[in-house]
Amino acid sequence: MNNFHPEQALCETRREFGEHGGVTPSISRSSTFTVMDPETMPEIFGGIRGPEKGGCFLYSRHFNPTVDILARYLSVMEGTEFAVCTASGMSAISCTLLQLCKNGDHIVSSNTVYGGTHALLADLLPNWGINVTFVDPTRAEAFEDAARPETRVYYTETVGNPTLGVADIPALARSAQARGITLVVDNTFTPMVMSPAVMGADIVVYSMTKFINGASDLIAGAICARRSFIRQLMDLHTGRAMLLGPTMDPRAAFDIIQRIPHLAVRMREHGRRAMAIAEHLRTWGLTVTYPGFPDFPQHAQMRAMMNPGYGWGGMLTIDCGTQKKAEAVMDRLQNTERFGFMAVSLGYFDTLMSCSGSSTSSEIDENEQHAMGLSPGLVRLSVGLTGNLEERLNQLQRALQACGLIG
Ligand code: PLP
Repeated sequence: MNNFHPEQALCETRREFGEHGGVTPSISRSSTFTVMDPETMPEIFGGIRGPEKGGCFLYSRHFNPTVDILARYLSVMEGTEFAVCTASGMSAISCTLLQLCKNGDHIVSSNTVYGGTHALLADLLPNWGINVTFVDPTRAEAFEDAARPETRVYYTETVGNPTLGVADIPALARSAQARGITLVVDNTFTPMVMSPAVMGADIVVYSMTKFINGASDLIAGAICARRSFIRQLMDLHTGRAMLLGPTMDPRAAFDIIQRIPHLAVRMREHGRRAMAIAEHLRTWGLTVTYPGFPDFPQHAQMRAMMNPGYGWGGMLTIDCGTQKKAEAVMDRLQNTERFGFMAVSLGYFDTLMSCSGSSTSSEIDENEQHAMGLSPGLVRLSVGLTGNLEERLNQLQRALQACGLIG
């Protein structure tokens, strides 16, 4: 196990207070900021002064005081020098890749990534001359085999969406470093549980829409990395985040700031309940995938990578065999048992269920879905925190019985 304690790191960092001594920070909603003397403005544009150099904010598409507080908390939680927040997870991913790659460059990516990311890599980036080879994320050698002289990036999710294969981050980091390649890791499924930068990843991206925010009421993303990379991204003249403009609203930043202090408690509880549900499903004879099972193929590897005390994450899958059966189970679970909601996304305090092949991974064609082990009857569960666990298990058992999946 790793010996990193993100919760402790957050407790030890400077807390930001609001004006008048508020225990919550103030929301700074200004789009633009005054400079006190005319010489300051060119210095900001020249990169000589900035929010951390002389206390000068310029314009909120660049840096904003409230958004910066959230970015600082994230960098502390991830063990990176710096971070920047974005308006969505997709913009965090796309700006990162466009900052790192230009026409003629190559990316080796996991084949088990969120459907939107897959579409960006497979369909959009090649239009700009950036080519991508997809490989099995659980085999670090596959990344090496696919690497070319023009490879700039290894891209993977820590725990792949939706089939939950775990990438060997330390091995990928070693291989990337030896070749001068940048390792970018999407840690959306496992904040707190794993800390890719502490294991050697260069850049950690998040959809904060999911577990980090935890309330399914906003869309947000983050890029955690070295200070020099964030500076490149935010360069006023050339930075991809500056030029493409996926700016986080300070009100969204404030909301997420309020939820960071209980992220650890939530992750532990998501993990505890997911483990209990996975174990029961297996006892009932269903095909369940959960990294917490000792016979899960990368169980030992994930154990070695995990931070102590946060469990195995809140995501599991059930293979119902066919799409029809999967839909019948989800229908029953939502509309009869009130167990959870048929909805895409994850990390909500209630349970969310989706049939991945026909929803969040539908951008990926049938053959590729098959190659990545994604069956048409696969139901992905993002296990929630609400309700009595015993009663949740009863609801699940009744629904599976009613649909004929168990006796
Ligand atoms: N990364 C992962 C693993 C996701 O599941 C998602 C969305 O579902 C994203 C990135 C994209 O995030 P957003 O919807 O915040 O743009």
